[in-house]
Amino acid sequence: MVPVDNQLPAHIRTRGSATDSDRAVAYPPAPLPLDVGVYDNHAHLEFADGDNPMDFTEHLDRSGAVGVLGVVQVGTDVETSTWSAALAAREPRVLAAVAIHPNEAPQLMASGEFDDAMAALDALASQPRVVAVGETGLDYFRTPPERQQDQRDAFVAHIELAKKHGLALQIHDRDAHDDVVATLLEVGAPDKTVFHCFSGDRQLAETLAEHGWYASFSGTVTFGNAHGLREALVVMPRSQILIETDTPFLTPTPHRGKPNSPYMVPYTLRSMAETLDMDVTLLAAQLTDNTFQVYGRFDDAPVTGPDSVLREPHQ
Ligand SMILES: [Zn+2]
Repeated sequence: MVPVDNQLPAHIRTRGSATDSDRAVAYPPAPLPLDVGVYDNHAHLEFADGDNPMDFTEHLDRSGAVGVLGVVQVGTDVETSTWSAALAAREPRVLAAVAIHPNEAPQLMASGEFDDAMAALDALASQPRVVAVGETGLDYFRTPPERQQDQRDAFVAHIELAKKHGLALQIHDRDAHDDVVATLLEVGAPDKTVFHCFSGDRQLAETLAEHGWYASFSGTVTFGNAHGLREALVVMPRSQILIETDTPFLTPTPHRGKPNSPYMVPYTLRSMAETLDMDVTLLAAQLTDNTFQVYGRFDDAPVTGPDSVLREPHQ
C-alpha cells in the first residue's frame, strides 16, 4: 500500500502478490502499438496484482505507449467508487463508474447499510467525470436463489440512479441473461446501456442489437473455446460494440493467467478484427467513436466528428 500522494493510495485492493504463489507472476510483454487510439471501457486499477504491482500511473503510461489512451475506472462498493471518482477528477485519461457490485449488494441490504451506500453513490454520480453507474446487475453464479430478489432490487436502484443523473449503465451479467433483460425492459433502460464483459450468445446479441444496447467485449472473446462469444460479436451492429480488459482479471490470449492491464487491449482488438474480418485501424476508430458516444470525451476537447479519432495521437 504505497501512497502516491497524501490523498489517493496507489492500491486499495489486492488480488495477489509474491507472497501468494498463485499470483507471483510478472506482467506480460506489451503488444505492438496501435495506429489509432482506443479506450479501455472497464478496468479496476485499484487492485495490486502480480509480483510487481503497477500503480495507476504505470498502467496509464504503458497503455498510452501502445495506443490505449484512456480507461473507464469502475467501482464495486462505496470505497472503490470514491477512489474511482477521485482518480478521474485528477487524471485526464480516466473517467469513472460508481456502483455496489451485485455480489456485495445483498449483504448490504441484509445489514441495513444499502440505502446509505446508495446515498453515497448519488453524491459521487453528480461529479462531472463520473460518467456511468456500474458495475451493477445480476450474478446468479455467486448468489443463491434466496438472495436474488435483493440483488434484483439493488439492480433496479442502480438503473434509477443512472437515469436520474443521465449516466450510462454498466451491467455485470453472470448466468442471468433473461432476468437482466426482463428487468431492463420492465424498469426502462438508460439511454446508454452496456453489457460489460459480454458473456451471451448470438441470441442475447440480437436482443442487445434490437434495443440499442452495447456489448463490451473483454479478453474472454480471445479464448479458444469462446465460439459463442465470437458468433455474438459478428451479429452485433458495429456501432454497438465496445472493448475492455476488466483489469486485473480476464487477461487475453496468449497471456491468460498473467496480471491484466489496459495496455493489453490491442491483443483483444486484433483478435476481434480477425473475427470480424475487419481492418484493425478501422475497428479501433469505430470502437473509439462508440466509446465517445456512450461516455463522452475524456478530455475537454470538442467532438468534431467521427473522423476526429483518426487524428488522436497514440503516444
Ligand atoms: Zn469489473
